[in-house]
Amino acid sequence: MSEAILEVRDLKKHFVVDHIGTFRRQPVTVRAVDGISFDLQAGETLGLVGESGSGKSTIAYILAGMYRPTQGRIHFRGLDLFSENGKRPLFLKKEIQIVFQDPGSSLNPRRTIAQNLAVPLQIHKPDKNIMRETLRLLELVDLPAIYMYKYPNMLSGGEKQIVAIARALATDPSFMILDEPTSALDVSVQGKVINLLMRLQSDLDLTYLFITHDLSLMRNIATRVAIMYLGKICEISKGSEFFQNPQHPYTQMLLSSIPVVSKDEEKLKPAKMIPTGEIPSPVNIPPGCSFNTRCPKKMDVCFEIDPDFVEISRQHFARCHLFGQTQKQG
Ligand code: SF4
Repeated sequence: MSEAILEVRDLKKHFVVDHIGTFRRQPVTVRAVDGISFDLQAGETLGLVGESGSGKSTIAYILAGMYRPTQGRIHFRGLDLFSENGKRPLFLKKEIQIVFQDPGSSLNPRRTIAQNLAVPLQIHKPDKNIMRETLRLLELVDLPAIYMYKYPNMLSGGEKQIVAIARALATDPSFMILDEPTSALDVSVQGKVINLLMRLQSDLDLTYLFITHDLSLMRNIATRVAIMYLGKICEISKGSEFFQNPQHPYTQMLLSSIPVVSKDEEKLKPAKMIPTGEIPSPVNIPPGCSFNTRCPKKMDVCFEIDPDFVEISRQHFARCHLFGQTQKQG
């Protein structure tokens, strides 16, 4: 197995927000990320999948340095991402890049594509010929050189996202966080952007954390898949194992509702699982297992004790009382 370049241990991010109750407004704690542990191996794609509000984008923003964690530690190539003085070394800023969901808001509309690409180049590669580097980046993402003179509003959504990817590559990163990079795009261009990302990963030895709410997208992309629910990972395993042998009731529920195109794929789907209740409010997560309001397999213990994350087979972990208490991860 290749080396782990990223180690996340017991990561928590809690926000205190004003909540309007029945009679008055009062501060409440939202546990957006609540005790997450995982590793990322060099060269792999970890698909982090979850519904809106599950905490997956909060993890992306923490890794990108936009939020400080409430608790936990993150090491990248052995270096602590959050030093005491709060400043991230320039080396880590170069190595870790993020591509956001909305390519329109991530490019400056008043600047040409060349000027947008020049910003990270001037910071991280002041000694290089900026024009030559800009042309290299456009070539890397298969955009004609003429695009350097265009403004973002002259590009399609897919082209803007490709420019955003080129800009992320300007620092020669080894790890990229892809935060729903195709969900704002037309279906017709999603495949083009995904193919580009896969080629770049192969050509440049990139490691990806691919965040999405679209589980079916992960089937052909992810080396491993992790499912998030209300701030916690409930199941993580290799991609092939994940789709052929899902174990957690929430994963089975999600996979059973994915549309498929062939009878062979239909046979691989878990039996249809109907959720029994509502998603709890993030400011009022129930005690015990947070999935207990919807789980068709819930037991008495699920309302009292939050299950541990346990290894149920080799490199296949799940957080559920159905699997008892065996070896904990991390
Ligand atoms: Fe369902 Fe209980 Fe497992 Fe939670 S711990 S997923 S409620 S069976």
